[in-house]
Amino acid sequence: MKKQTKVIKIQSERTHNRENSTPLYLTSSFCYEDAAQGKDLFDGTLEGNIYSRFSNPTVQEFVDKICVLEELEDGVATGTGMAAVFACFGAHLSAGDHLVSSKALFGSSHQIITQILVKWGISYTYVDASAPESEWEAAIQENTKMIYLETPSNPGLEIVDLEMIGRLAKKHDLIYCIDNCFATPVLQVPSQFGANLVLHSATKFMDGQGRVLGGVVVGTKELIEKVRFFTRQTGPALSPFNAWVLSKSLETLHLRMERHCSNALALATALEKVEGVKQVNYPFLDSFKQKDLAKKQMSAGGALVTFELEGGFERVVRFTKLLTIPSLTSNLGDSRTTITNPFTTTHSKVPTEDKYGLGIYEGSMRVSVGLEDIDDLIQDFTQAILGSK
Ligand SMILES: *Cc1c(COP(=O)(O)O)cnc(C)c1O
Repeated sequence: MKKQTKVIKIQSERTHNRENSTPLYLTSSFCYEDAAQGKDLFDGTLEGNIYSRFSNPTVQEFVDKICVLEELEDGVATGTGMAAVFACFGAHLSAGDHLVSSKALFGSSHQIITQILVKWGISYTYVDASAPESEWEAAIQENTKMIYLETPSNPGLEIVDLEMIGRLAKKHDLIYCIDNCFATPVLQVPSQFGANLVLHSATKFMDGQGRVLGGVVVGTKELIEKVRFFTRQTGPALSPFNAWVLSKSLETLHLRMERHCSNALALATALEKVEGVKQVNYPFLDSFKQKDLAKKQMSAGGALVTFELEGGFERVVRFTKLLTIPSLTSNLGDSRTTITNPFTTTHSKVPTEDKYGLGIYEGSMRVSVGLEDIDDLIQDFTQAILGSK
């Protein structure tokens, strides 16, 4: 069976009620038939659910689907994407260890690395996402334990060469951990390039409709075992309700990503021709610097488009007032087109010089292109850009 069929077919065992849709096990704990069964469950003689901080059938169903999509053995779901990021670090890095990471990261991931891990004696080296292999390799030290990255990055859409990093991780025997949130496993499967730990903010495209928070980590059995110990004890469990929503949403992920990507490519192409737009970034645009690399490792360009408006932040305010379709919000991966000004929102705490280094300017806009009719979107963006001159 192909993945698209599997994500529809995988589900908790049908109950005596003969339900067609998947049941929701909204329960904090599970009963023992007798005290002996309780003992066996706790000492591991018997495998089964005990308490939903440890495991839950609805949550497991969601994890099973992600394992199939990411082609990895085992996984753990978390309450948010950030809990997934922190669980990967917390489970695998110890005092004295060193992390090599791409510089272009989600804001909170950057905060964890630079403000929290360092408190516990875990050091890091940042490398530019598009740096050559020699630069990535030079960052690796004796005590390096993990390489961490996002590709495409947020909001710069920089592409990291997954195959090249896979080669380095293997050569230096490092954990190769990727936040695959922007591409989703529909567009890019990092394990095919050697990644052995892949995480997601399920809040984004996996939900796809802006309703619930969630996260997930999948990887090799050996690496997940440590992540599972970490999350069991520290407690960032995914709610069964959110898992149920996410599991149902995965049934339409392939279909949604197809439309997100075709809409995004069409909008990016149209924006390039509108007066007042300085620079449009989209991985599958002909003008995109890393287009060849993007096409090598992704099957489509994703839903995110960024562009810079001439006229700085004052123009941004006028432009967003004139837009009628998109929601002005910092979330992404929604059926609704969402738009934000990263300079003053998601990246407001990053020093200005660093923002410029990441290609984030006062007039930069990040668009997560939704599932609306593409002609309506192009028309709306065009009138708002021209009208805000
Ligand atoms: C949103 C996001 C996160 C954090 O996920 P939450 O579910 O908000 O905790 C991490 N990485 C990337 C790339 C994201 O877009």
